[in-house]
Amino acid sequence: MGMLPAYLPWTVLSLIALDVLLAVWLLRRDPGLGTPRCRRCWYDMSGASGTRCPECGMDHPAPSDLGRRRLRWGRCLLALLPLPLLLLMALRVGAFPTLYYAVMPTWQRVGSREVSGHSVTHYRARNPAIPEERVVVRGRLNYEVVDRRVWAGVAAGGSPRSVGTQPYLGDGTKDCTGDGEPDLIIEGFSGGAHCCTTYAVLQLGERARALGVIEAGNAAYWRETATPGVLEMLGADYTFDYWLVPHVESPAPTVVLRWDGSRFALYTPSMAQPAPDEAAFAALVTRLGSLPARADFSGRTIPPPELWRAMLDLAYAGHEPLAWRLSEAAWNPSWGDRAAFEAEMRAQWANSPFRAMVEAWGKAVKPAGG
Ligand SMILES: [Zn+2]
Repeated sequence: MGMLPAYLPWTVLSLIALDVLLAVWLLRRDPGLGTPRCRRCWYDMSGASGTRCPECGMDHPAPSDLGRRRLRWGRCLLALLPLPLLLLMALRVGAFPTLYYAVMPTWQRVGSREVSGHSVTHYRARNPAIPEERVVVRGRLNYEVVDRRVWAGVAAGGSPRSVGTQPYLGDGTKDCTGDGEPDLIIEGFSGGAHCCTTYAVLQLGERARALGVIEAGNAAYWRETATPGVLEMLGADYTFDYWLVPHVESPAPTVVLRWDGSRFALYTPSMAQPAPDEAAFAALVTRLGSLPARADFSGRTIPPPELWRAMLDLAYAGHEPLAWRLSEAAWNPSWGDRAAFEAEMRAQWANSPFRAMVEAWGKAVKPAGG
């Protein structure tokens, strides 16, 4: 069965309603109502004296028995003959679910729980054709998250990913900011192969407020820090996903986010790595420089993706100046024009929400040996 026109279920439902109305009307239609009649043979007894029918001999116990409505069951059943066919048609065109979802409220409550004086309620769209879930927070703070899948620790099985690996999501007892107030992390997932996970972090204590929404791309992980109860988010920067090369070859440097007092920002102490020493840097230059040129999606000559992967690894460990030095030192003339590539990489990097922080960090870190 292909796509059915939207009016078809309603047409069939209307025909069913009309048929039933017609049958009821025919059943109850009684032009003789008002004249006294025998309740067995319907003989007109307006001229007769007493309650005994002169036609069939039926004796009516009460005079009111002579005023009964004559129900015409034969006509009624005749009118209902098309009904089985109409019901079958209704089943075929899905008329009953259409009616059900039109009459019932869109959202079905899946579960609810108390978190720090707030009610957190999980809803699912009643109609499976609407792939949406909703988490509604009510209390001092009122907040809603709508996504394809939403996880707030309320509905079992509502998590986009394994709850076992994400024990802090929807916990509502852990502190993300370090101010001692409990925070609730709500995870939203838009579906698809790689995209997109979103975290809404709500502070639900006495000073209830929405701390922020983190666009985490493909995936992220919240982990406990050395400070008891305080969490940080381990994620990745997906700015270079599908840039010049397919997803599998695209580097996604690791980022760690923590609350910095006003927002979730890079927490560089959790990301910092020592800069490679002279020998390691020289080895990297030699290894990268020997790699053959590649072609991008349009067939243009580009350097191998290993180059910008190594550059990003350096930059997201606190050594961006070293990344550009690496490009210069390792550049193989067969890869094309270095200045053009670097300009293109900078332009792409500008799309990253972490760009300014990484750049500032790189400038603040002392270069190796300096
Ligand atoms: Zn009679």
